[in-house]
Amino acid sequence: MQTILTGIRSNSVLTLGNYLGAMLPMVRLANKHSKDYNINIFVPDLHSIISDVDGDLRENIIRTIKYYLAAGLEINENVHIYRQSYVPAHSELCWILNCVATMGETSRMIQYKEKSKGQESCNVGIFDYPILMAADILLYDATYVPIGEDQFQHIELTRNLAMRFNNRFGEIFTVPAKTADQIKFMGVNEGIRIRDLLNPEKKMSKSTKAENSKIMLDDEPAKAAKKIMSATTDSLAKVKFDMFNQPGISNLLQIKSLISGTPLQDVISEWVGETRYGTLKQAVADGVAQTLTEFQAKMAEISDEQVYELLEKGEKYANEVANAKLLEVQKAFHLR
Ligand code: ATP
Ligand code: MG
Repeated sequence: MQTILTGIRSNSVLTLGNYLGAMLPMVRLANKHSKDYNINIFVPDLHSIISDVDGDLRENIIRTIKYYLAAGLEINENVHIYRQSYVPAHSELCWILNCVATMGETSRMIQYKEKSKGQESCNVGIFDYPILMAADILLYDATYVPIGEDQFQHIELTRNLAMRFNNRFGEIFTVPAKTADQIKFMGVNEGIRIRDLLNPEKKMSKSTKAENSKIMLDDEPAKAAKKIMSATTDSLAKVKFDMFNQPGISNLLQIKSLISGTPLQDVISEWVGETRYGTLKQAVADGVAQTLTEFQAKMAEISDEQVYELLEKGEKYANEVANAKLLEVQKAFHLR
């Protein structure tokens, strides 16, 4: 059985953008395939500590797992939920892969260049995390790794490391699918970019300082509705889906479509030509408030115990699979 693997960093509360653009599509994908694939959902807590964490990391981790469940993730025996740091093989394989990867290819990672800003004070984890990510994937022979486009380069790096390793030692790792095939497999995940409410030419990001730019999943629904009402639009006074010239309005249509589960085309047909932006804003604000109310109610129903039970099972599974793969790798290097 092939494996689909995904993780989302738990450094803070997630935004509506993270939810609609990453979590919901992932949950749909998992539910669609969990009869025929292993679905590995892990919390990359070792990746979290390469940058600041808001609040308590352990609490954030539990909350992130609850997000998946509240988003509708269906649990069966093929769905495995685990924390990266509870499976020590990740760190071990990362070290071994460090000795396979080159400075040249790792230095070329755009994420590293962006995050380090060329400063020598940048921590080594920021440089090395793509190698840890390769270990996260290769330990489980994962074929599909649904992630955003900012991570595609890391998939290519993972593929190169796996192929180099296999050339030297034999077929030990499954080479993950090419990014083009990853995109095809993800289908719905393509191109969803919720925009910043105040500066709609940018995407909504949890690290943006301005509160009114973003909707957090734990926002009070009425407060979230107000943020939508005060979202930046334009002075054209005519609703049209045009991300280039009318990004604010287009963003509202996009959000409306995703929260109501209505195809974007249908939402556009319904609203195109409307001259009162306030009417559209109100409809989106109501929808967002309702979505948050329902989501938060589901979150409240999920107990910590439920999460720990899933983790116990998932971590037992993950350690078995990962340790078996690690042993093969150790043997290849005559460490065992
Ligand atoms: P940060 O500001 O810390 O970079 P972020 O909000 O950009 O936070 P990430 O942790 O970088 O979130 O990404 C988590 C996941 O959410 C990724 O899969 C990413 O593609 C997706 N994502 C992030 N922002 C958006 C958005 N505005 N719309 C849709 N998907 C998004
Ligand atoms: Mg980001």
